[in-house]
Amino acid sequence: MNDTAPTAVASAPAPSTDQSPPVLYPLSDGIGSVALIQHSGDDKMIVNAARVSFGGDNAAPLTGRDEKLISYLLKHKHGSPFEHNLITFKIICPIFVDRQLVRHRVGVSKNEVSARYVEVQERAYTPTQFRRQAPSNRQASVEDDGTLDQAAAHEAWANASQTAFKAYHQLLELGVTREQARGVLPLSLYTESYYTFNVRSLLHFLELRDHEGAQFETHLFARAIGQLAEPLFPVTFRAWRALHHEQ
Ligand SMILES: Cc1cc2nc3c(=O)[nH]c(=O)nc-3n(C[C@H](O)[C@H](O)[C@H](O)COP(=O)(O)OP(=O)(O)OC[C@H]3O[C@@H](n4cnc5c(N)ncnc54)[C@H](O)[C@@H]3O)c2cc1C
Repeated sequence: MNDTAPTAVASAPAPSTDQSPPVLYPLSDGIGSVALIQHSGDDKMIVNAARVSFGGDNAAPLTGRDEKLISYLLKHKHGSPFEHNLITFKIICPIFVDRQLVRHRVGVSKNEVSARYVEVQERAYTPTQFRRQAPSNRQASVEDDGTLDQAAAHEAWANASQTAFKAYHQLLELGVTREQARGVLPLSLYTESYYTFNVRSLLHFLELRDHEGAQFETHLFARAIGQLAEPLFPVTFRAWRALHHEQ
């Protein structure tokens, strides 16, 4: 269990025009973001995928019976009807967060910016507050109880970042290839990817990462991903949340 569960909700969606996708900024720094790019299907599609086994799929609006079926499917782990609906996000996150996202192998597609093709932008995440190692859980963190020297931590972080970017640019100026020069860049560097989940893989991802056991920053990204997906599949999310509340 992570002792520092994120309490902040991702900052509000950026004002959107008809063309711009809804975007959340989980780290509230105006860079780290989750944008909803596209999706296919809805709750009814999930019901139809399940009912086709006995020829019962139909174009009628979702009924109470359909809603019960979604709960039943989730409860009894009939996962395949949830695999027909896809949701694509553009995620800009620190490499250390992305390293955790990319561990979700099944039902998740990813394409990422290549630092072999392009010179990386000088964009790295800086925590606003540093946390302590949790005493009870070797993976987790706890909020600073006032004993951390936040100023010194900020200075050490900023120095490391500046040194790394300086070395990167020096290497490029020396004629070193981008694919080697990137080796000196920090894990806090922002990377950007398109991630496509199906609803089954998304719920599995949220169970593991929109969870207090996940790394604080990854938890914030997972929460934003869930917030953007939930209105697209409201019945499924309601049933899924009820099921988890039960357990
Ligand atoms: C809090 C937390 C701490 C973690 N700490 C570490 C760590 O210290 N080190 C580390 O390396 N990873 C760590 N992980 C990553 C973790 O082990 C998983 O790789 C990651 O959460 C993806 O989960 P998954 O395999 O269930 O998802 P997916 O890869 O999307 O797989 C989905 C499901 O498909 C099935 N499946 C997938 N691949 C196989 C397979 N090869 N064989 C059989 N069944 C399969 C499983 O049922 C699996 O649950 C951590 C994850 C969390 C949430």
